[in-house]
Amino acid sequence: MYKVSILKNADWFAPGTVIYDHAYGVHEPVKICLVCFLIEGQGRKIMVDTGMDGIDQTYTEEHKDQFDHLSPSKDTNALLKEVGTSCEEIDTVLLTHLHFDHYWNVEQFPHANFIVNRKEWFHVLDPQNLPINPVKAFPREPLAYLAGEAFGRLTLIDDEYEVCPGISMHWVGGHSPGGMVVKVVTNEGPVIIVGDAFYLYEQIENNIPIGYCTDYREVLAGYEWLRKQNATLLPAHDYSLFQKHPSLTIG
Ligand SMILES: [Zn+2]
Repeated sequence: MYKVSILKNADWFAPGTVIYDHAYGVHEPVKICLVCFLIEGQGRKIMVDTGMDGIDQTYTEEHKDQFDHLSPSKDTNALLKEVGTSCEEIDTVLLTHLHFDHYWNVEQFPHANFIVNRKEWFHVLDPQNLPINPVKAFPREPLAYLAGEAFGRLTLIDDEYEVCPGISMHWVGGHSPGGMVVKVVTNEGPVIIVGDAFYLYEQIENNIPIGYCTDYREVLAGYEWLRKQNATLLPAHDYSLFQKHPSLTIG
């Protein structure tokens, strides 16, 4: 049995067209948050995604005028210290997908093994795909760290992968070609950390496609698969997380 902790890096916002499919007509920015997750148990300390430090440095004066929900952001290591550990102590980092806000901090985990879906890795690193994976949105330094200093600690996986008994990764794709979710056994039942398979609970509840995706059929098939799991679903960007799990822990 494992315990999952929700670590909130920041208050954030995203263009409506990233969050919602065009047909839903939301163009104004949508308030979102950014969280990453710590799984503890059986002597393991595992992160799901790395979070991103310094998001509040990206808020402009205009953003601060426009949005009333922006508070100072927190670094991942500070969040881990609040729950009694640190980046140094993390043994494994499971990357749900290679989008900057999910892999930004890889360099902060000097002892961790990194797990990435093979399709995702080659999709992002194939120069042919540069137009849809531009450097600005896919920062190269953390990727260079994975391909360099941490290369011996990197494992590329396929569509199903058992991390250890009670923790497994499953491919759903949709949002990105190699998007994975992480299933965790807890004493409150199964938990699935969904990466960005959906951004907001209303999307999986009402079958509303996300805006930013590489395959909308996979997005919808992913919703269907996730609904069938009868698990507690944990997305990375929905404030409802904090109403559903006010203690910030499951298990
Ligand atoms: Zn993403």
